Parts: sequence; structure tokens; C-alpha cells
Amino acid sequence: MLRQVLISSIAAIGMSSAPAALADSPERTLIRAGTLLAVPGNAPESDRLIVIEDGIVVDIVPLAMEAEYADGQHRVIDLSDQFVMPGFIDLHVHLSGETGSGSKLTAVTDSDAHVALTAAWHARKTLMAGFTTVRDLGSRGNAIFALRDSIRQNKVPGPKILVSGTAVAATGGHGDFHGFRQEVLDALPSYATCDGADDCRAAVRRLVKRGADVIKVTVTGGVLSETAAGTGLQMTPDELSAIVETAHALGRKVTAHAHAAVGVEAALNAGFDSIEHAMWADEDTMRLFRKTGAWLIPTVYPITAVGDTPEKMRQGPFKDLPAPIMAKLLALGRQPKEMTALAIRMNVNIALGTDSGVSPHGENANEFIEYVNAGMTEMQALVAGTRDAAIAGGIDATTGTLEKGKAADIVAMQGSPLEDISSVLEPRFVMRDGIVFRHDR
Ligand SMILES: [Zn+2]
Repeated sequence: MLRQVLISSIAAIGMSSAPAALADSPERTLIRAGTLLAVPGNAPESDRLIVIEDGIVVDIVPLAMEAEYADGQHRVIDLSDQFVMPGFIDLHVHLSGETGSGSKLTAVTDSDAHVALTAAWHARKTLMAGFTTVRDLGSRGNAIFALRDSIRQNKVPGPKILVSGTAVAATGGHGDFHGFRQEVLDALPSYATCDGADDCRAAVRRLVKRGADVIKVTVTGGVLSETAAGTGLQMTPDELSAIVETAHALGRKVTAHAHAAVGVEAALNAGFDSIEHAMWADEDTMRLFRKTGAWLIPTVYPITAVGDTPEKMRQGPFKDLPAPIMAKLLALGRQPKEMTALAIRMNVNIALGTDSGVSPHGENANEFIEYVNAGMTEMQALVAGTRDAAIAGGIDATTGTLEKGKAADIVAMQGSPLEDISSVLEPRFVMRDGIVFRHDR
């Protein structure tokens, strides 16, 4: 019975690019890989067979050995004309929405149920783009936790999600609400705003109690908050140290939203595991990254999506956003690209993250192209979005590479991204935990 469900669901995938009905993986799946980049960073190999049981890679052997693994019950997926590699990982998304004119109003118009369904739609788009794991660093309400759990239970299609919930923020800081009249601000829930070390410890504990997998902290101001507060440091060293200590004690990684160099450095000195954006990081900041070993998550693609010159910004998708936001955007300009090029030249640890939700969901793979444009080799870019993103996210025991014992999180494309990185924009096959979600023929 199970197998019949599977076969019909696989047939359905073949006929359209619509998502498959979710089904358990059969006991054994054999994938014929024409070219296999099992562990990005190592050389790819030709004519390999990936053996998958119950969603886990149990063997990778020469294709010539296929007969030894054929048990009559198995299914075969033929990707012998494809470039096969681990599913992509994006460490910075916001699945609950997309920024644009009108998005501010959703804070008061959209119910949590509406947010959940919107997030599910974005999750599906993201999975179909080849991303089998994402880290959501700020989606409001409880919807994102429900979505994470529903995806794990195979009720809805989507990538595996690491969830931060709302960000830890100073009262009135970047992660707080802005731009509404006082009565509305008073009504909007601030689950994780805090002031002072003890209060910030409590905020981290509340988030973990709610189900957060990772702690996100808005250490500095941000571009998209409707306030003229700039992008400088908004929290104190004792608050940052208390947050890191509490998060680590509860087994959570802690990542900083930070733009100004002084904010990036404060977070690095406090022991943060990673820094998002780091737009104004300079050479001294990069040396501190090297010293601490922390990960940089550059989030470059949104600036391409919204326009990286004043002319493009004034005509782009953000042209109607309020003046305080536009002023910060104009100040940013090409700086994300220049900062990323500097980080690459100075050998900082970089893991892929897009800030999708600022740029449209499903366009995440453009971030690989940004890294190559900023000076990475194609292989380095692929490593940043697979193996290293898994390490930075603390999930490398189960994903990020295709090796015995890890999840069958697999993406395949026609061309080799090692020759032309833009191949990552056209995945033709996506499997997550052994379930086929996309197979274009
Ligand atoms: Zn973000």
C-alpha cells in the first residue's frame, strides 16, 4: 500500500512541476548520479550510486555496483545526466512575509493563521529552489514554530527550518515595532525586547521556552526599521555577554544582526557564533572575525534585488518605503558587495544567508552568484551554501554533505555549477529527507 502511494506520487511529479503529495520514502532508493559532489570542497566524482534508506544516505558506491543493491522492492531515480550535490542551506530567511510597499500594514491586518499560510507558501517556493534547510531569523507570532513542526511531520512541503522566533532587541531597537501610533505600538506583542543584563537573560529563556532553535539579537540598528536611529550599536556589552552566556547554557547558537563596525565588534567580543550582514565591517573587524572564528553571513543578494545604486533604489521595489528607511538604504549602496569582497580577501569564515523576505522568496540561490562575483571560486561558494552553512548552523552532523548516516537532502541540475555558477538557479531535482519534491524531466 505504501509503495503504491509512492509510485503514484512519483508519477504525479513527473507530469508537472507542482509539489508532490507528501509520502514516506520507500525502504530503499537508488540514485544514479552522473556527477556527484558529495562533499563540497572535495573533487566531484563521476558515475556514483547513492543508496538511501528511510531518508538517510546509507552508502555511496560506484554506479557499476547497482545490481548489488537491487532488492526488487527499491525505486531507482536516474540522474545520470545531472550534477548532483547536497541540498542548499540558507541561514537567514524571514518566511512570514516579503518587504515592500504595504508590508508594514500586515503587522496589524494579518492574523497568525494568515501568516502561517503565507509562510508555508514561501517555504514551498524555497524548497523548490533547492534549499532543503533554512534558518528563519525573525517571523512574527507562533506561525513559524507551527510551520517548522508541520514540515518535520511531512504535512506541508518545505525545507527543514531552524527558528529564532522574534529577535532579542532593546526596547525601541531594530527588532522592536516602529512607525505606528502609540496605542497600536502598545497593542503589538514584544516577546523578546529587553533592557539590562538580567532582563535580556529572561528574554533568551522566554524564547527557548517558546521553542527557539537559535537566538537572534538585533545588536545594531537596521535598514528596514522605520526609525531614524541609524545602524549603530543599540545594546550594551553586559547585555550582549548575558545573552551569549544564557543562549549557550541552553544549547543554542546565538547570532547577531549587526551593521556598524562597532556593533559587529561588540558582538564578536561578547562571543557570538555568527554575525548577519556586518555591512560596515572594516579590516580591523575582519581580523577580529579571524581571531574569534565566528561566521560571517553576508546577505548580499537583497541589495541587488532592491537596487545597488541610488537610481535603481529610487525605481526599485522599495521606492515607496518611508523616508527613514530609504535614507539608510541609500547610505548602504554597494557596501554589502564591497564588504563581502574584503571578507573573502581576508579569509573570514563565510556561510550563506540571503535575508530572503527582503528579496523575494525562491530567489535564494542568487546569493551563490554574489559570492563568486565578490571573489570566491565556484567551489568556495558551493561550500558556503552547504557544508559550511551546516557547520555554522550547528547541523553538520545530519546535513550539508552527502555521506553515510546523513539526511538524503539532495539537489541536482543540468549544468555544472563548478563551471557556471548560475546553474544553481535551475534545480531540476530536489529531495529532502529522502522525499522527492521536484523532478523535472
Ligand atoms: Zn533579516
